Amino acid sequence: MRLTTPSWVLRRVRWSESSLILTLYSMDQGRISVIARGALRPGGRFQGLLELLSGVEVTVTRREGRELDTLVDATLFEPGTRLRSDPDAFAHACLLSEWVLGLFMGGESSSSVYNLLGAAFAMLPESRSRWAVTCVSVESMLNLAGHAMEIDDCVRCGMPAGGSGHWSHRDGGILCSGCSAPGDIVISPGILEFVKTCRRSGFETASRVRLWKGGFRTCHDFMREFAQAHNQSGLKLRSLGVLEDLENGVG
Ligand SMILES: [Zn+2]
Repeated sequence: MRLTTPSWVLRRVRWSESSLILTLYSMDQGRISVIARGALRPGGRFQGLLELLSGVEVTVTRREGRELDTLVDATLFEPGTRLRSDPDAFAHACLLSEWVLGLFMGGESSSSVYNLLGAAFAMLPESRSRWAVTCVSVESMLNLAGHAMEIDDCVRCGMPAGGSGHWSHRDGGILCSGCSAPGDIVISPGILEFVKTCRRSGFETASRVRLWKGGFRTCHDFMREFAQAHNQSGLKLRSLGVLEDLENGVG
């Protein structure tokens, strides 16, 4: 079977002297792995087309029962140059890629995830608040992965939770004051308000929200803990360390 779909390059692994194995997030097939033979050969036809975080329309052949598709054609539609030329924007985009790879194993609405990545990758280079863009994207990914945080009704009794702020990652969200028990945590009012804005107002507006210093990082880590309570495979967010080094002025 042969299929063509636009996709984002989320991971590149050198496979041999001249070949790459790519993990792509595609509009029509979701996450796919492809082998690109000859991709590293100087002057080869894939040269310069398969860079990390670039947007490529790929044509692949797929064999029944095989995990790995074979790349037969590639057309670059978004070079991703601006993302790759700014270390901080690049690290944020890599972090979002790691979220996608951790959350989506198939079965989701792939065009929504694909479009979300496109919107985030376009916004990150120019945004003055990259952590906001990242947090809005992650909140949206949790919804698309079927792990939406419940922010209105108590996850134990189903009644409106009111302003208690008690929270259970394991049970999926907010608790009313009657249902909270020792061991439950409290969601910060600022983070709760931010998540509400994400749901009400969408990507563009929510990515312009301002939080207190360090607030988005706190929000990110809160969503990470939430995701880890619902995601057996676990998230590997190695780009966080890179971002911390950049923010602390290391290197
Ligand atoms: Zn309750």
